[in-house]
Amino acid sequence: MNKTLLILIDGLRSDAIARTATPVLDDLMETGMVCLSGQTVEPSLTLPAHFSIFSSLPPYSHGVMTNTATPDMSGAAQSLFAQIKAQGGTTAAFYSWDHLRNLAFPGQVDYTLVQRVDSPKDQKLLGNAAARHLITHRPDFTFVYLEWADLMGHAHGWMSDAYLSAVTQCDQAIQKMAEAVHTLNKKGFGFHIVVVSDHGGQEKHHLSNHLDNLTIPFIAHGNMIRSGGHLDGSLSVLDIAPTISRIMDISPHPGWQEPCCKISSGLARKDFPCSTLDNILPGSVSPRQPKQNPLFRPWPYPYKTNTLSIVSPKSNNIRAKN
Ligand SMILES: [Zn+2]
Repeated sequence: MNKTLLILIDGLRSDAIARTATPVLDDLMETGMVCLSGQTVEPSLTLPAHFSIFSSLPPYSHGVMTNTATPDMSGAAQSLFAQIKAQGGTTAAFYSWDHLRNLAFPGQVDYTLVQRVDSPKDQKLLGNAAARHLITHRPDFTFVYLEWADLMGHAHGWMSDAYLSAVTQCDQAIQKMAEAVHTLNKKGFGFHIVVVSDHGGQEKHHLSNHLDNLTIPFIAHGNMIRSGGHLDGSLSVLDIAPTISRIMDISPHPGWQEPCCKISSGLARKDFPCSTLDNILPGSVSPRQPKQNPLFRPWPYPYKTNTLSIVSPKSNNIRAKN
């Protein structure tokens, strides 16, 4: 089982990476593969998108449509966490938004650190704690959620100076983890790093189906990943769980909507065919053909953007997201 660190930067727009200093992400992109035209789901909200990332199902299939309702846990039954544990892997999770506990059933995450993030310093402490855990425990799969860019986007606007500074601060929070992975890989542990986002943002929100909200970056680094590759075609968040399972060399869940990874290179397993494998070779990348994708069917339910219930953080220490 190839070890993998999944870092999710909440609200990271693809075009923000080029607009501000991100030396750690730049290094991962140079030595790995990047897709800056990835697509998230609708509604482009944090919890629905996370469930889609971990279950490879669109929101109307996994049933998590808002950030505030108690999720239908059926999606978690086929989450990446469940699949890794079922195949004997060890897991860890580091996050600041407590709702993400619903991405797994009890017992499927061996180590969890939930720490509220109210400053870039808090976020760096969370990242550094994950780095220490990588070194000391070397879990097969580690999930790290970084929230600061999303918080600054809502407060000051996406692509504002404060937002771009927050993106740089997210990059700084990754630094110790990247160093830990490089250290471990020198010792032969074969870690991979995957960096994704759950949605972009526009002005101070990310609720509409505008491309600025739906377009996300995807970065992968490790010895299963081709160095310097660039994938111009579409990559959906539904591809992420199958791609990570491929990187980790574990079986995908049969219920995952996307049966195949889009980016990893290396040994194609006969029982896990990957028809797009050749398309990710640097210099031979061709855009993925549009397909009948249920993600982009007309929205089946009318919903209002102002109906999400907001709980005051001051009243009960639960941060509302929008
Ligand atoms: Zn989010």
